Amino acid sequence: MHGPFLYIKEGTILDLNTDIQYCKGVGPVRAQLYHHLDIRTLRDLCYHFPRDYLDLTAVTPCADCKPGTEAAVRGAVLRKKPEARLRKGLTLYRLSAADESGELTITFFNNRYAFEALKIGEEYLFYGQIRLSGARPEMTSPLVFPAGEAGGLLPVYPLTAGLTSKGVSGNIRQALAAIREQLADPIPPDIRSRYQLCELGFALQSIHFPSDAHALSLARERLIFEELFILSIALRRVRSERKKESPVRICGFQPEAFYQSLPFSPTGAQRRAVEAILSDLSSGTPMNRLLQGDVGSGKTLVAAAACLAAVQSGYQCAVMAPTEILAGQHAASFAAFLKPFGVQVTLLTGSMKAKDRRQALAALQSGETGVAIGTHALLTADVSFQNLGLAITDEQHRFGVRQRVMLREKSGDPHILVMSATPIPRTLALMIYGDLDVTLLDELPPGRQRVETYCIPSSKLERAYGFVRAQLDRGRQAYLVCPLVSEEEETSGLPSAEKTARELGEGPFAGYRTGVLHGKLKPAEKDRIMRAFKEGEIQLLVCTTVVEVGVDVPNATVMICMAAERFGLSQLHQLRGRVGRGRESSSCILVSDARGETARARLKAMCETNDGFQIAEFDLRQRGPGDFFGGRQHGLPRMRIADMARDNRLLANVQQAAGELLREDPELERADHAALRESCGRLAASIGDRPN
Ligand code: ADP
Ligand code: MG
Repeated sequence: MHGPFLYIKEGTILDLNTDIQYCKGVGPVRAQLYHHLDIRTLRDLCYHFPRDYLDLTAVTPCADCKPGTEAAVRGAVLRKKPEARLRKGLTLYRLSAADESGELTITFFNNRYAFEALKIGEEYLFYGQIRLSGARPEMTSPLVFPAGEAGGLLPVYPLTAGLTSKGVSGNIRQALAAIREQLADPIPPDIRSRYQLCELGFALQSIHFPSDAHALSLARERLIFEELFILSIALRRVRSERKKESPVRICGFQPEAFYQSLPFSPTGAQRRAVEAILSDLSSGTPMNRLLQGDVGSGKTLVAAAACLAAVQSGYQCAVMAPTEILAGQHAASFAAFLKPFGVQVTLLTGSMKAKDRRQALAALQSGETGVAIGTHALLTADVSFQNLGLAITDEQHRFGVRQRVMLREKSGDPHILVMSATPIPRTLALMIYGDLDVTLLDELPPGRQRVETYCIPSSKLERAYGFVRAQLDRGRQAYLVCPLVSEEEETSGLPSAEKTARELGEGPFAGYRTGVLHGKLKPAEKDRIMRAFKEGEIQLLVCTTVVEVGVDVPNATVMICMAAERFGLSQLHQLRGRVGRGRESSSCILVSDARGETARARLKAMCETNDGFQIAEFDLRQRGPGDFFGGRQHGLPRMRIADMARDNRLLANVQQAAGELLREDPELERADHAALRESCGRLAASIGDRPN
């Protein structure tokens, strides 16, 4: 069986995977339009959900229509006015509709056809925008329904040029009518009944053609559950290849001596995280843990403790960072943490001199090096370890799932610790990391201050520069972040780091020591600049988002972000985390001339909270998980109906149901799981991960 069959034209057998052009009423031309919406099969069509519904049940009396709203009005056509040709290409057709409350003018633009179809004396339902025309409200470009037929909730579809909601709705009606009887439900009956979910047939029917609000809400809940459920099962299956037993035992480590060696006392959260990790390392099963902590929460120390434990049990560690700058900085901090214990820390990057690299590789291979730190270069073929026991990736969102798998494959099965400063909302983390345990560093080291954040238009930049100069005069340092590297890229007036640095150096910051840092510099040059900034030789660092992750210069107390609307919120939060790392109070100035409502709301959220999790939730709600990390780095598909931030409550049930089902039938072999298996396979193929 290949799933349900669908009979549309007599003599033609189609199934859900058939091209929509064979659906009655579609055809090859319309099919092309649907392709713009990524709708290719009948399944795609049935799963093309309305983005909204027009409520035609609530009718507004003509006299009560308020400008600025949308309304449904039930009225008879009283009279038609002569057409008014305002200018070439703009003709108005007006009529008066009336109900018991009074009259309302209704205007069509250029739509003679719709206008002429209406009969004087007949009653219709009009739905549209109410605007002010002179002193009186009027309805413009309404949808019109014969009064007898209309009612209920009318679906509004995401569209592309050439399609209308009405047309899409008609096509879907055809498709649904033909397949309803044969639909195979991917949610097995026992789970449906346990979580009180309606059947697929009812759900599809009711999401497109709701009989009432209750049916619609049942349908929505069930379809959201389905989408998350399939995603969850697919991801769990992709990742369930891990061995159940670990050959790497790291036991008997007492962290007290390590804590004693530190210049400060670890926070409670850091101690708890270290405990959780040590218990994983000695458990006999491979660790797979996500350490989540907002910027500045002190993840490095926790990672260093884990490394020390591994090395003292005779294993090596690999620590991977997303950029060379960060790898270099980690090498320095790990060395500082671990030197007192005689652990050798080796930096390995792509840009090292051949001789240095050979030496570093040899030290890794011989086991002389305890902790190797690097970028993706640690994953290249010529790197081999003597005895790798622990792999740590920092700022995980830059590493794809694929890299994690590569690391595991090349080095046996080390324990894995993933560190993320992007405060992934817990719901999303659960989904993305299916089988990862999560530890939160939910406490900042003492003495940290809130970074005061302001949003200003570029016309106030001079004042901001004055503020920065005052900070520099007091011995502090500052960042100025630009969205672009060089002026060749400067389109649409966005500032570049190179040009801005030159202009500031000659103008507002003449006489101050400025520097430029961006990703296109040679690694040695980047290093030199970063070191100069760290040591205070550079006072103002004009840069791009290369400083986004992890850079630690506590003396920097101000950051200016140019064209701030250009950055993702979580990215801005990371950037802002570069200041406020010392005891001085710090500030972040977001410069933006964006007027859009969304942009304003996003920047306002930045000014109002310093809590990375709140910001991430906000970002997730606004942009959806697909865009959350800028690009689809997790390989999560775009959701059709679920919203991971909003559908929090369901997600917990979904996780539970998915776990239960896979425990009973890990390979999805049961007959009543065939439809589910097929759905998961299709999803896994679409996100480019291989199912096992
Ligand atoms: P992140 O979690 O962003 O990687 P880091 O590990 O870079 O944070 O730590 C940020 C700064 O806080 C570093 O300068 C580090 O030395 C310092 N730090 C870490 N833990 C503590 C602590 N318990 N008390 C005081 N300072 C700490
Ligand atoms: Mg860090």
